[in-house]
Amino acid sequence: MISLSEASAGVIPGARAIFTTKSGQASVGRKGASREAFSDFNLGLHVGDEDTAVRENRRLLSDYLGAPVAFVNQTHSARVAEVGPDWDFAAVNDADALVTTRRDVALAIMVADCMPILLADTNAGVAAAVHAGRVGFLGEILPAAIAEMLRFGALPENMRALIGPSMCGRCYEVPQQMHDEAVARVPELSARTPRGSYSLDLRAGARAQLVSAGLAESAIDDSYPCTGEALEYFSYRRENVTGRFVGAIRLL
Ligand SMILES: [Zn+2]
Repeated sequence: MISLSEASAGVIPGARAIFTTKSGQASVGRKGASREAFSDFNLGLHVGDEDTAVRENRRLLSDYLGAPVAFVNQTHSARVAEVGPDWDFAAVNDADALVTTRRDVALAIMVADCMPILLADTNAGVAAAVHAGRVGFLGEILPAAIAEMLRFGALPENMRALIGPSMCGRCYEVPQQMHDEAVARVPELSARTPRGSYSLDLRAGARAQLVSAGLAESAIDDSYPCTGEALEYFSYRRENVTGRFVGAIRLL
């Protein structure tokens, strides 16, 4: 290993954080089991891939992170699930963010253009993984996840955030009405494509919410590639039939 893995592995001291790519080798140092449109490190069930391949890929991710990985059934909601001592890894739980104080589990959010946001206050020992597409973002999933972290003792000034690979403000083109409705609620979302049409900058919106919650600007890393432009990531907008990569975090 590694190179690409290092490039996409987020740095939060006291935690292990990763944004995977299409390549198992580049992500976790092992070739993934998925084929064709899902080649080779698809981590999403129910996207048309073979379940056995996805489960093998999830096992490789778990090996890499050194802990069982908690996934949820993501529904673009504002529901936050706590991964507590009794978390059932086999159960299907609807949620769009996970929060934990456990050091023996990893939290994963699946995406292919939506924002995967990883958060931690490693002093307090609290981590979160958040799935924020347009709908979930406007539903305030990120503030909901931060509120849960605070409830578990996290302090905003000690929190770090990684806004992972996702559609950038130049690429996420939307109809004007959708743009205007979103911007009326969060002005930082306003963006344009290079040809001047309306788009949304969800990353700018997330950064604004994080700063508003009390995180330092320097504690927020949103420098990851755009999934619409960087071919090493699954992109639903670009490919339609495609896999899912993850943002995953584990407290050390
Ligand atoms: Zn882009």
